Amino acid sequence: MHIMVTNDDGIHAAGILALAEALRVLGTVTVVAPDRERSAAGHSLTLHSPLRVYELREGFYAVDGTPTDCVNMGIHSLLSVRPDLVVSGINHGPNLGDDITYSGTVAAAMEANLMGIPAIAVSLGTFDRQGHFDAAAQVAVRVARQVLANGLPADTFLNVNIPDCAAEDMLPPLITRQGTRSFIGNIIDKTDPRGRKYYWIGSDEPGFNDEPGTDFHAINRRHVSITPLHLDLTNYESIRILGGWTL
Ligand code: MN
Repeated sequence: MHIMVTNDDGIHAAGILALAEALRVLGTVTVVAPDRERSAAGHSLTLHSPLRVYELREGFYAVDGTPTDCVNMGIHSLLSVRPDLVVSGINHGPNLGDDITYSGTVAAAMEANLMGIPAIAVSLGTFDRQGHFDAAAQVAVRVARQVLANGLPADTFLNVNIPDCAAEDMLPPLITRQGTRSFIGNIIDKTDPRGRKYYWIGSDEPGFNDEPGTDFHAINRRHVSITPLHLDLTNYESIRILGGWTL
């Protein structure tokens, strides 16, 4: 088996190192990841500048692009074989509910899914660098093993969120749906040393709706959350409603 690993926190992040190391029990692992943090890069692709690749050591490629660039570079250029699986993460911080559209971690898995390669995004429920990445990596291995053995349903990739706790304190995985959050964005405006205004998109405490069956509800109770995702954003109910419009 050949597994490609990427992330959006950069190739030096604790999460990707733990993940790459743990996945070696399943096969050959090649890491192709951004050379710096690209969190919240979403599904963006670098089209207006060239990309540079640095092989830091054998099987570890740093790319000066986005997570989506990395998946493209890995699959179409750097890897000698088409991978059997792409695993993205382990993200520092959860990727839940509506937030997943911002996520570079989830987008990397999405990109692999677009290429027809089974893919998993893995995130840990803490932004602390001292989080339980090794325990989370073991969960990722178990999920990856299932995907390699059984495949995934058509047009499906997985968004896995893992509570930040020791393995023995974790509760069994739940298959969940994407939750929702009551987002209260805020913009911080200040003045720079030259007297010019600048703005910074702030992030308030995530206010997720604690609805049973959702990713947030599961991880909030120390369950591993596994959400099957697909790319079709169509609101099918609205097709029916808008069909009644006079246009
Ligand atoms: Mn990140």
